[in-house]
Formats: sequence, C-alpha cells, structure tokens
Amino acid sequence: MLNIVLFGPPGAGKGTQAAKLTDQYSLVHLSTGDILRSELAAQTKLGLEAKRYMDRGELVPDEVVIGMIESKLDQNPDAKGFIFDGFPRTQAQARALDRSLSAKKNTAITVMLALEVEKQELIKRLMGRGKISGRADDQDISVIENRISVYNRETSPVIDYYDSQGKFRAVNGMGSIGEIFDRLCGAIDNL
Ligand code: AMP
Repeated sequence: MLNIVLFGPPGAGKGTQAAKLTDQYSLVHLSTGDILRSELAAQTKLGLEAKRYMDRGELVPDEVVIGMIESKLDQNPDAKGFIFDGFPRTQAQARALDRSLSAKKNTAITVMLALEVEKQELIKRLMGRGKISGRADDQDISVIENRISVYNRETSPVIDYYDSQGKFRAVNGMGSIGEIFDRLCGAIDNL
C-alpha cells in the first residue's frame, strides 16, 4: 500500500493537493477537517462538540479524531492506500495511526510529505479561501493567527516523529498548484 501523510500548516494547500494525488495514485483521501465539517453540517453530537474547538482554531481532542480515522479505515477495506490530510496533528495521533494501520491493515505510513509555505502567504490564502468557502475559521484574522500558532506549537513536532523513522520529506509549497503537484509527485516517484 502507498500511505501518505500530507502535512503542513493551515493554508499550505493540503486539501487541494490531496485531491489531485488521490486521482493520480488511486488512493482514499481522509481529511479530518472535512469529516468534522460534515459532522457539523449533519448536526451530530460529535460535530457540535467539535465546533467549540474549531471556531477558536484549537485542536479537537485526540481521542475524537483518532476514533473517526479508525472507523474510516474500517469503512475502506479495499483501499490501495490512503492519503491523510490534516491528520495526524499531534504525536499521540501519529502513534495511534501507526498502531491502527498495523493492526487493521498490516501496513504502515510510507512517507510524510510536508508542504513548506511562508506565513504571509498562508494568511493571504486563508483569507482568500474564507471569502469563497464561508468557513468561519478562515474569516477571522485572530483565529487564523491562532491556528498557525497551534500548528507551530502542537503539530510541528509530528515532523520529528516521522523524521526519526526516515519518512520525512520537505516539499516547497510556494508557487502554482501545478508546480507544487509536480514536486509532490516527484517525491513519491523517487521513493
Ligand atoms: P482543517 O480543515 O484541517 O484546517 O481543520 C479545521 C479544524 O478542524 C482545525 O482547526 C481543528 O479544530 C479541527 N481538526 C482537524 N483535524 C484535526 C486533527 N487531526 N486533530 C485535531 N483537530 C483537528
């Protein structure tokens, strides 16, 4: 199986690139942010609880997102591989993902591709997306700043987790969608 962690700060382009990589390599795309937003749209208990964290740009508790990912792994028995977008966001999530992939699928993460984008560009992209998507967390500069701080403080240590396994690859996330996609494909095809 080809199992990719597509990593990077909010606004790095993970969702856009994950959709393109899913087509290119016939993978199943799992985005915890998308799953949480669909839970919220359906007004489920999980979605309504998660909203409190999402509105402030804080992380939803580990056990909630780990449980969501485990059920998605169970729901996709025939997947050729997975692309994880916005997950794992803590080292505890990364450890749980390793355990689940091993126990449920007898497989492991192949590579972490980490998109690197300058902070000013992240803010520009998120504010631009907020105007189109209507996402509340993309329309408030203080929430955007908090999401970037949470990424730096709580999420960036996940890089060390995969680096220590020799699986971390940095990818320049500046430029056009096509240019970034070509860099990601180059990193995958070089594995
Ligand atoms: P995203 O769409 O990936 O930007 O995620 C939007 C929001 O959902 C985040 O700001 C968090 O509040 C929450 N979220 C998404 N994925 C995770 C995760 N893996 N762990 C904790 N919270 C998450």
